[in-house]
Amino acid sequence: MDTGSPPLDASASAESQAGGEPIPISAIQHAVYCLRQAALIHLERLWAENRLTAEGHVLHLASDDAGNRKVRGVRRVSALHLASRRLGIAGMADLVEFRASLDGLETPYPVEIKRGKPKLHRADEAQLCAQALCLEEMTGRAVPEGALFYAETRRRTVVPFDLDLRVLTESTIARLRDVFASEKTPAATYKATLCRACSLIELCRPKIASRPVLIWRDHSLQDALASPDNKAGEP
Ligand code: SF4
Repeated sequence: MDTGSPPLDASASAESQAGGEPIPISAIQHAVYCLRQAALIHLERLWAENRLTAEGHVLHLASDDAGNRKVRGVRRVSALHLASRRLGIAGMADLVEFRASLDGLETPYPVEIKRGKPKLHRADEAQLCAQALCLEEMTGRAVPEGALFYAETRRRTVVPFDLDLRVLTESTIARLRDVFASEKTPAATYKATLCRACSLIELCRPKIASRPVLIWRDHSLQDALASPDNKAGEP
């Protein structure tokens, strides 16, 4: 008997405070990495599949079978829908473990599956933290930590949901909400380490997009005048 199970209230309609569609939890990961990337994917609906994104997709397909089973006394729920009405976000957790606590109730413990290995940036952690914030709202239980499971290392990295990470996550959601409300994609800022690893680099073209518009126009004009199609005397 699962009397210790906290009630889940996804209410699946996590409308943002300003109304409208909930922000996808996956967008939070993209936005921490680069706000422009999040806007290109979620506002302009651009996506570029490369080997890395394809690997991630396959990993998630393998973990997307919804299920509820007990492993060594821990209830594990896969592909769990999550939502927060307060934050206006919604999405799905790869896996949530419901661990027995000293008070006789269960404490949710989200686990997100990622390709590669632990990163230097906090994008994966913020996505996981957003899941924890949803679980706290849905169950009324504190969610102090979770884990990222990386396919390359095949190990879990424990992520404490401390104040810094919660502030980063909530401020990122606020920035995303502003971008979605304005329907304007932020300008590109070329950062070599981020842009070179970004699957959207060919679509974003950050070196060009980050030039001041007049410089861009001059370069375009020069390119056009230098084109063999524009040789003097030719129509
Ligand atoms: S290429 Fe760079 S600026 Fe463009 S979306 Fe990717 S990370 Fe952002």
